[in-house]
Amino acid sequence: MINYDELRQFLKEDQIRHDAESCLVYGEDWTSIPGQAGIVVFPKTTDEVSRILKHCHSHNIPIVPSGGRTGLAGGAVASQGELVLSLEKMNQILDLDPVSRTITAQAGAVLANLEQAAAEQGLKYPIHLGSAGSCQLGGNIATNAGGVRFVAYGGTRQHVLGLEVVLADGQILDLDSKLRKDNTGFDLKQCFIGTEGTLGVITRATMQLLTAPKPSQVALFAFEDVKQLNPLITAIFRSRERALGLEFFTQSCLTKVLQQHQKQSPFNEEYPYYLLFEWESSNLNETPWLNSLFDMKLVVDGVIAQSQKQQQQFWAYRELIPEALQTSGTVYKNDLSVPIQDLSNFIEQIESLSKSQNQFDILLFGHIGDGNLHINYVSPKTTSFPELVQLALPIKNKIFQRVRELKGSISAEHGIGLLKRQDLKMFQSPLHQKLSLDLKAMLDPTGILNPGKLL
Ligand code: FAD
Repeated sequence: MINYDELRQFLKEDQIRHDAESCLVYGEDWTSIPGQAGIVVFPKTTDEVSRILKHCHSHNIPIVPSGGRTGLAGGAVASQGELVLSLEKMNQILDLDPVSRTITAQAGAVLANLEQAAAEQGLKYPIHLGSAGSCQLGGNIATNAGGVRFVAYGGTRQHVLGLEVVLADGQILDLDSKLRKDNTGFDLKQCFIGTEGTLGVITRATMQLLTAPKPSQVALFAFEDVKQLNPLITAIFRSRERALGLEFFTQSCLTKVLQQHQKQSPFNEEYPYYLLFEWESSNLNETPWLNSLFDMKLVVDGVIAQSQKQQQQFWAYRELIPEALQTSGTVYKNDLSVPIQDLSNFIEQIESLSKSQNQFDILLFGHIGDGNLHINYVSPKTTSFPELVQLALPIKNKIFQRVRELKGSISAEHGIGLLKRQDLKMFQSPLHQKLSLDLKAMLDPTGILNPGKLL
């Protein structure tokens, strides 16, 4: 049982909330899966996190570690009235070392602040997501977030140098480090990256920073036949330009952004598919490959941003899609990956499944340069989220079956959370699952950390 008075022995009054509104707000994330916290606590130090966990461990109180709650798999949802442990008051950047090119911060540091701090030192923070203004370092690590720069720099896991983690029983495991090279056997920090708060609470991390890229160019291309995707992607990668972003969206997604955000289309006409490409280049005159995309009839229209402001506008067409969909209706999101060469066929199959019914729309966008597609089932707001999940089930199962045949993944970057826990069984061997459960039993023997998620 969660006991307010016992928590008050080591937390101040303003560090505990149990009013209905806070329990609702902190009990849910972006997925629309219903949740309600039993109580919400806001530690300010690692020591306080340790005391909370020790208390929960000895009283068998389940905990949901909570970051910016922008997760899209329900990992931060308190679906069983758990104690929500919010990291939002642990948001300090502790060190930025321009020589080692590292940044160390508390887990609740907001991604946009990390990006800005690095930029002020002429360096690049390697991860960027559309949710940068809200999501947190700890949440990014716990979900192994990918994002729009994955095509250039890889995902979160590639950049974590060190971690401090509080284990389920309250022990503090200090794995923090600025080392880029360290080959001393088991790399224990990997246990906590991408495991969605089921094995420990991340309290601090050191991330590597990168050399800032040269100025870049951003182009938006339109194409009419999804079969052009393979030659188009091939031509772009053969251009020998250093890709900083390669994103895909459909006209249906663009229309939602234009409607919801009162924006003008960058094109005079509507086309079924768009590709956004950002590449490192200070000289637009050295891009003969751009014309060749038209000569080879791979694209039918294209615009190149003429200023940094316009570059941001082009990116906004892509980055505002999740928000525009969310405002326009009930959304059931599915984040998948398949080998890049199979994408165009895969998209055709999804479109044909979409046309076979009229209960919801299927809208597609994604980090196409990584083979990562976001499939969004969208219905009017009058359909509840659980209803939409049920309606979409037959088509979702067909799509997952195809993902299996293509040796793809049912979660490219959003994680498993509550949303795909049942599906995971189909995609992992019994041995894989047993070893995961053994690890969980070792690190969290009473099963208090994010119960019901992932495993
Ligand atoms: P939360 O949602 O709060 O939590 C996510 C999971 O991490 C939960 O399981 C939670 O228990 C756990 N967790 C949180 N903090 C900790 C901690 N300190 N210790 C241990 N466990 C913890 N994701 C991508 O990968 N790529 C994208 O491009 C992308 N774009 C997005 C765009 C929008 C508009 C939105 C709303 C979301 C997007 N996301 C994207 C999803 C989401 O932003 C990421 O998954 C992000 O990493 C979640 O961070 P968070 O702080 O919000 O975590």
